[in-house]
Amino acid sequence: MQKKEQMYEGKAKKVFATDDPNLVIVDYKDDATAFNGEKKGTIAGKGVINNVMSNHMFQILEKQGVPTHFVEQLSERETLVKKVSIVPLEVIIRNISAGSFAKRYGVEEGIVFDDPTFELSYKNDDLGDPLMNDYHAIALKLATREEIEQLKTMAFKVNDVMKAYFDQLNVILVDFKIEFGKTADGTIILADEISPDTCRLWDKDTKEKLDKDRFRRDLGGVEEAYQEVMRRLMGE
Ligand code: ADP
Ligand code: UDP
Repeated sequence: MQKKEQMYEGKAKKVFATDDPNLVIVDYKDDATAFNGEKKGTIAGKGVINNVMSNHMFQILEKQGVPTHFVEQLSERETLVKKVSIVPLEVIIRNISAGSFAKRYGVEEGIVFDDPTFELSYKNDDLGDPLMNDYHAIALKLATREEIEQLKTMAFKVNDVMKAYFDQLNVILVDFKIEFGKTADGTIILADEISPDTCRLWDKDTKEKLDKDRFRRDLGGVEEAYQEVMRRLMGE
């Protein structure tokens, strides 16, 4: 597989073309941002961990019947994935109150919901990824009603699989963000990444945060938290 020109550089990853028009290479960086890019930093070794963890989760999800963009890990930081046109909606599932949910509704973090919640934000950095409901997404032609129903079904399935998987690692899956994309034939598959950058993960016993909130909130031990998640995933 021939790595060709860089197509895009985002906040956490670069995307490269390949000699196959249906495949791209994602290259994970150590750069970290929070609060819509206002806070910037680096988390040493994050790119490697997020690459390996995403690929690990995508393979588990594939086995459970969730189609993903994963094709093959090429190096510590690079993975070959199916090229998609990203649906410009961030899909967020929450099992427990935290982050923007707790802030928006004036509740404490840690309320365990009877059922997970589903929310959408418009993936648009200039606007700060505003919260959006399904009617707004359809009005703006970001997705059809049928596609949104499909995103919802797939997102809840991802939650079921990941919640059970993390539970046996003594980790609580609090919430997460995923992105979907459409392949050339219009099929919707899970894309982007699944990592401590995009999930809230708490230790089941101590409730210690093992995710990007350590960076967002200057809690210290950021690298160690990412390494701890990796250690549990790899069963060391
Ligand atoms: P951001 O754009 O939010 O700064 P990243 O730094 O993670 O995010 O950049 C990676 C970009 O690649 C994101 O815009 C993401 O939507 C996009 N992407 C993820 N998976 C794929 C894929 N399989 N094909 C094409 N683009 C993808
Ligand atoms: N999230 C993400 N990217 C974003 C916004 C949120 O990966 O641009 C993840 C975040 O890590 C958390 C979940 O989505 O696991 C819910 O985030 P929330 O809405 O609480 O936002 P935040 O606290 O980041 O403002």
